[in-house]
Order: sequence, then C-alpha cells, then structure tokens
Amino acid sequence: MTDIIDFDNALVIGGSGMIGVHINVKYKPTSKEVNILDYYSIKQYLSKHKEISCIINLAALNLRNSEEDPVKSIHVNIDGTTNLLMIAKKFNLPFILLSSGAVFSSKQNNKKIFIETSKTSPNCFYGVTKSSSEKISLLYEKCIVIRTGWVFGGTQQNHNKYVELFINNLLTNTPIYANSNFYGSPTYVSDLVEKIKYIVTNKMYGVHHVVNADIASGYDVAKEISKLLGKSTDLIFPTSCEKVPNAGPNRSLSEILETSYEYNKMRSWREALSEYIDKYLISRQMSVDVKKIDNDIWKNRDKCRLCDSAYLKTFFKLEHSPQANHFVEKPVDQQLIPLDVCICNNCNHIQLLQILDKSYQYSNYLYTTSASKPMVSHVTSNIEIFLKSNNIQKTDKILEIGANDGTGIKYLLDNEYVNAIGIDPAVNINKFHNLPIICDFFGPNIFNYDNISTNSFKLIYAFHCCAHIENIQEIFETIYKLLTEDGVFVMEVGYFYEVYRQHAFDVIYHEHIDYHTCKSMRIFCLKNNLKLFDVKMNKIQSGSIQFYISKNMGIEINDSVEKTIQKEEDAKLFDIDSLLNWKNKIILNSRDLGYLINCFISEGKVIFGYGASAKSTTFIHQYKLSNSTIKYIIDDSHLKQNLFTPGSHIPIVSMDILNVEKCDYIIILSWNYTDEILLKLHDYISCGLRVIVPFPNITII
Ligand SMILES: [Zn+2]
Repeated sequence: MTDIIDFDNALVIGGSGMIGVHINVKYKPTSKEVNILDYYSIKQYLSKHKEISCIINLAALNLRNSEEDPVKSIHVNIDGTTNLLMIAKKFNLPFILLSSGAVFSSKQNNKKIFIETSKTSPNCFYGVTKSSSEKISLLYEKCIVIRTGWVFGGTQQNHNKYVELFINNLLTNTPIYANSNFYGSPTYVSDLVEKIKYIVTNKMYGVHHVVNADIASGYDVAKEISKLLGKSTDLIFPTSCEKVPNAGPNRSLSEILETSYEYNKMRSWREALSEYIDKYLISRQMSVDVKKIDNDIWKNRDKCRLCDSAYLKTFFKLEHSPQANHFVEKPVDQQLIPLDVCICNNCNHIQLLQILDKSYQYSNYLYTTSASKPMVSHVTSNIEIFLKSNNIQKTDKILEIGANDGTGIKYLLDNEYVNAIGIDPAVNINKFHNLPIICDFFGPNIFNYDNISTNSFKLIYAFHCCAHIENIQEIFETIYKLLTEDGVFVMEVGYFYEVYRQHAFDVIYHEHIDYHTCKSMRIFCLKNNLKLFDVKMNKIQSGSIQFYISKNMGIEINDSVEKTIQKEEDAKLFDIDSLLNWKNKIILNSRDLGYLINCFISEGKVIFGYGASAKSTTFIHQYKLSNSTIKYIIDDSHLKQNLFTPGSHIPIVSMDILNVEKCDYIIILSWNYTDEILLKLHDYISCGLRVIVPFPNITII
C-alpha cells in the first residue's frame, strides 16, 4: 500500500489544456506561477509544496505552432521538459511526460501500427521535439512516457478539436471535409485520464501507449458522429489529408498506436464517442444554446391551437421566465420570455399565448420512464387497461407516441403483442435499446417508414407528450389516418382541473403549451371526425386525464364524458372571473412568502431551497426569489448538481451541503413531493432546521 504514488498530490504542468482540465489534482499552477523555462521558478514551487508526489508534464507547443515557430518549439518541448526533469531528479520524484503518436510516421502504409517498442520516426517539427524530449526523459529511471493521439472530449470553447468541430458542423448543417487517407487512434480524454492515473499511481515506469481501441480516419469519425446524432451523412465529404481545411502540417499517413500491455487496453473509440456525445448534448442543452437566442425565439399566437378562433383572452401573465430546463454551467445572460396563459372564448381551450422556436422545445431529453418506478408501473398497468377495454388481440397493430425509453413497447412485446411499435424523437435515449421505436417526431412523416400504412392501427396511445406539441391539429389528422375504423387513441395529459384545484401554477412553463380539459377536447375531436367516448382520471404527475378517442362515430359514449364536463363547469373553470381570482390567490401567496423571506433575511437567517425541477424555474421567477435570498438549491439528481438554476443562477448542490454549511430554513420548491422531502430532512429537522412549505398554504415546520 505504501509503494504507490499519491495522485491527488501530483504537480500537473500545462493543466489548462484539454487533458489538464480533466485531471483533478491539488497542484496545477498557471504558467505565471511556474514558468517551465525558468528552472528556479520550478524549484521554488517544489520547495514550497513539499507534499508534491510526482511531476506530470502536459505542457507543449502543439503541432501547428511548432511548425510555425520551431525555435519556440525547441524551448517549450525540449528545454521546458529538461528543466522539469532536472527538478524531478533533484527532489527524487517520478517524472511523467505526455507524448504523442506524432513521434512516428509512415509515408506509404496508412494502416501501419506502432507499439511501445517501435522505433520512433518523426517527420514534422513537433514530432522531432516530442521524440527528443522522450529520449531525454527516459534517461531518468523514474520516468513514465505516455503516448496518445487524436484526443477528443473538450468541455470548453478553447478545447474545440476535430470531434467538437464535427459535432458543431453537423448540428448546424455545415459541410465537413474530413480526411479519408490518414489513420490514427481517436482517444476520449476521460478514458485517457483514468489510465494515466492508474499508470502513475502504480509507478509503471517506461513507455506506454494509451489510446482507445480500433483505428479511424477523420472521415470514419465524422460518419460515426452523424450516426450518433441521427444526422444524414450528406454533409460529410471525404478528402485527402493535405486538402482538409485548416489541417495541421502534413506529416504522415498513419499515427495508429497500439499497446503491447494488456492492462493498457481500453474500449473502442466508437463506444467512448457515444458516451461523450451523450454528455455533450446534455451539457449543450443545459448550458445555453441561449447564446444563440435572439428575439425571434418566441412570438404570440393570434389563434386558438385547437379551433383557430381569434378570441383568445389572457387571464394570467406570469413573471417572465427563461426556458425552464435551461440549467447553466455558469451564470450567463439568459433571455426572459413572457409566460401568458389565455383561454379561447370559442372552444374554452386553455393554452400558452407564446409560441417558442421549435428548436427550443423538446430540449429536455434527460427524462426516462424507467428511471421512475411509479411511472413504470403506471405505464404498464394502464397499457393493460387499454388492451382489455378495447379488446386488442395479440396480432393487432399498436403504436405508442412518445415511446421514450421503450418501457411500454417492451412490455407489449414481452406479452406477445408482436405488432407493437413506438415513435420518439430523443436520439440519446433511443440508441440505448434495440426496440422497434422510430426515432423521429410524430406527424405525417411517419408514413415514410416501413410497416406504417393508413387504417392499420387498432390502438394508438400517448403518455404525457401531447401537451408539448405546437401543431396538435396535424397530430390528430395523422392519428385519424392511422387508425382502423374501430381503432382507439388514448391520450394522457396533465389535467387543468387539477392544476386549478391545487393552485399548481408552476406546471406552467414554456414546454407546456396546452392545459387540457374535457370540454375543449370533445369539441376538438368532433372537428377532426373523431369521437371522445370515455375519460379516466389518475393521480400521476399531480393529476392527469386520459381521453379515449375513436374513429367510429357511432361508438357508445360513456357517462364519464358528460360528468367530467359538468364537473369542470361547476368549478367555473371556463369563467374568466374565477380564473382571475385563481391568479390573484397565487399572487397574494407569493407576496406573503416574499414578506416572510425578507423578514428572515433581515434577521440574518440563511435560506436554502429544495428541488431544482423545471417547475421550480416558474416558482422562483413568480415568487421573485433570487441568489441573494436563496443561497443554494439542494437536488438529488447528479446531472443537476454543480449547475445553476435558469435565470436566477442559484447554485445547485447535493444534500451534503447541510453537513458543511449553516442553514436555518429550507423552502420546498418541489412541493408536490413535500412528504418525501420531509422524510429525507428528518435528522436535520430534529437538530433545529426549519422547513417552509409554500403550498397549498404557507406552513413552517
Ligand atoms: Zn378554441
């Protein structure tokens, strides 16, 4: 146990580069603190920090700059390395040099493979300086040389390399000219860093090749990225390496590295790339595409989404708010967009006035059904009900809209409903299963796919996705075409009656554009030659409604439809005065809470929040909370921790914060999970922590 290196205390030189930022150690001085060309500045730093366990040199002048300034390349890559090495010797510390596949070259064979013992053969300036610095370093017995190549996985603007460039081009439909005759070993920076840590910790002196398995040309990588992003390859053009725009110096046809050591072997670059792209997409969604925001991202509707009437009456102008799911990595300007709810005077449909640019919708692909046990049992038990109540046979065709991770489709196939298929646009969820789920938005385009024909589906259903779709008329027209004459469509959505009854105004955000009721849905179905023949209510997502809809206009209508509409009328759901009253109660409640919080703050109390959901974005803005009143928001999701809330930029942290920082009050933002959260906070509450529950009435526990 004693004969390993304490990696946390490693000194990393060149720590701000793409690899360096991924290495998590205590000592990462800037080039001002430690100048590798100044022996004494290095010596001074080492003398000051006696616990440093080894020196890792990542600093180098890169390929392109080395060609442009060979003298500087000699200084940085050879002199700098030599200085560090001398210090390592002086302090008797292991020395680690990061090197490159550019120490090899092949002019004839573009599939030539180089292993650790292959003779170096650089033919560009960078390669020569790296090869020389290796040779000098290896004179020291406590030296590790790690060669890698074609590293990808940047997190910041200044770490954009070929993979990041390809992703950006494909996402913006910009052509890519990628080399198809120069091969190398693409390597994911996270995999590389893990392996560096292993090799260094275990003092495995000597030369190591650390790359992901399998070889590729730039063209292969670009094609793989287009596959992972679900993009067409039409934008990718193969070309020879010297013709690639902005390519570095033309040095070789092969930089393929392989390792002779079993312990150095890593997964294929394709597998690693897939993981990176998932992470990249998540961070891109969360950390602002907002950069691209201009005023065109929203406009107001002038007609009802369901009946096209121009009589829209706004009854609740909520505080302007950013996109509810745009959590950010650091505080940046985020555009606040109006959030107005209106009612159609013609069909009584309640809806959001704003239309957002389509690219801003469906932004949250982080949600998977199977992650929530109650949701899995809800989906499967309800599918069972749909099957029984509509007399569906094992060979009947079934379609799930918004099939997500395939929880429903898998259940159907497992139960021998062999003709079940799904459709869902989320690329990064879709590729984790092999189920018959079309990866696309649902609409008339579905007829472009195999096995999809008109009048063929006996059952179509959709759980919680129809309130997000701007063009719901087109959706219903497509459903009409797909259904058999006796086919049934079941649509489950959040129920506005429950939003109203529970004052759950925080479900109002830009992704939720429709707030359905039975009354307006009946009218909408008739308009589309469909019949609403049954409705069922359940408690999922704070209260949902299922609409049973058939193409058979002669179908018997269950009492539930009329009763539900009566219930809505009795609650005065479509009465503008009652809607205005509802709004006023919410505004009064927010004033009361604001007053209370300001009192606590003036007494010097510290307040945290709990639950950084999309709903909390509406809550925070409506209640005018900010990072000056709420110090942190605790959230259990690892994906959200270390990010900042949209617009208000309150840091999101794990519950561990309660063990290290003083907190007097916690305000529950996910108030529909109050009981669960109180249970989690039980120990802290018994030690004096107070909890503010804002809804349905402000309560302090
Ligand atoms: Zn209408």
